[in-house]
Amino acid sequence: MARASGKSNLVAGENVWVQVDTLMTHDVCGPGTIGVFKREFGQNAKVWDAKKIVIIPDHYIFTSDSLSNRNVDILRTFSKEQGLPYFYDVIDDENGNWQFDSSQGLLKRQYGSRYAGVCHAALPQKGHLRPGEILFGTDSHTCMAGAFNQFATGIGNTDAGFVMGTGKLLIKVPETMHFRLEGKLQPGVMAKDIILHVIGEIGFDGATYRAMQFDGEGASDLSMDDRMTVANMAIEAGGKNGIFEYDEKTKSLVEERTSLNGTKSEYEPVERDNNESFIYDSTIDLTKLEPTVACHPDPGNRKTAREMTDMKLDRAYIGSCTGGKTSDFIAFAEIIRGQEVRIDTFGVPATPEIVNDLQTTEWEGKSVWNILTDAGVRMTENAGCSACLGGPVDTFGRMNEGGMKCISATNRNFPGRMGSKESEVYLASPATVAASALAGHVADPRDYLN
Ligand code: SF4
Repeated sequence: MARASGKSNLVAGENVWVQVDTLMTHDVCGPGTIGVFKREFGQNAKVWDAKKIVIIPDHYIFTSDSLSNRNVDILRTFSKEQGLPYFYDVIDDENGNWQFDSSQGLLKRQYGSRYAGVCHAALPQKGHLRPGEILFGTDSHTCMAGAFNQFATGIGNTDAGFVMGTGKLLIKVPETMHFRLEGKLQPGVMAKDIILHVIGEIGFDGATYRAMQFDGEGASDLSMDDRMTVANMAIEAGGKNGIFEYDEKTKSLVEERTSLNGTKSEYEPVERDNNESFIYDSTIDLTKLEPTVACHPDPGNRKTAREMTDMKLDRAYIGSCTGGKTSDFIAFAEIIRGQEVRIDTFGVPATPEIVNDLQTTEWEGKSVWNILTDAGVRMTENAGCSACLGGPVDTFGRMNEGGMKCISATNRNFPGRMGSKESEVYLASPATVAASALAGHVADPRDYLN
């Protein structure tokens, strides 16, 4: 933040103007952001830097709701008008209109070649995340990009409209909470369990307007996917951002993705301050963590899966930016493989690239995708946010009835999050979701490892 504001150093609590490296928006907040931008800067105003704006429709896409479809058209018109190179349209025809065709069902893909899927998973895949940069996005889970050693946080449409016109934003430097990770996760325990453990410890508002710094040898051992899972849920504790250190894993993924996509490849990572000071300091021994569940009605309502095995479930769901990555589906499939789910189970990969990974990765001659569908999992090729945040009533996997209980690999479980306000969502790792889908009640995945 000091670098982005042209200062040699900053202290927590200071308000500074930072230069923005990337602004991301999507179909839900993009039209509102564009409205603010046009109202404040003029109908014919140009954005501050077309190459620094990334627009990723992903939320309410595969629905017949005409206003949701129209949001994608608003983004297309604006991107054309402004000459934005990074608009990941749902359709290939830049003069067309997006309309979901429900007669084709919800499972078969209906997007074109540029569609990118869930914004937070698409940003790294498409080469838009670089260490040491400032990323703002009109979505609270923008903090996921902190896995890449950058300051990334969600902002509202008004701020985003201002950034669109000026490329800068006034922001308060957060205090930092320190989470030192030691030891190794045991089989059946995943990165999701780390962050559910942390939020259970500090509460769903325990990190309000604070940075959550994760480091230590346990953090270095985590894959980039796992770091993304942890950073993604910083906001579920109220955190301003989550952040990891830069290392060889970060470097190799950033270099691979920027070169694959021809995006900007220069960057300057940030290191920990010599005199770092923390408002909170904790050490977590990963070896001791157990499969964890965040119970209805908030992400801080923590129990172990073992303590919950009496609770019957109606539904299981794997998907979202947090839990819909290739590695999440692989962990899920390792448990499901060769068995049958007992409850309705929905699978929504976060991006088209992940759909492709699952359809082309084979175990003993069968794709992971087919292993899952043979086990009774309803897999959709229409990668996106889907029922992670409910959405229109025809959204795949949405909980339209009250009283339903769903175990989900997603990241948020406040009442109504996945549909009906009377339904209940229990957050867990992909492994715990898999074991529970097989059992029909909350289950500890360590009993299902094979
Ligand atoms: S998948 Fe869920 S949490 Fe992630 S961006 Fe979409 S709605 Fe938000």
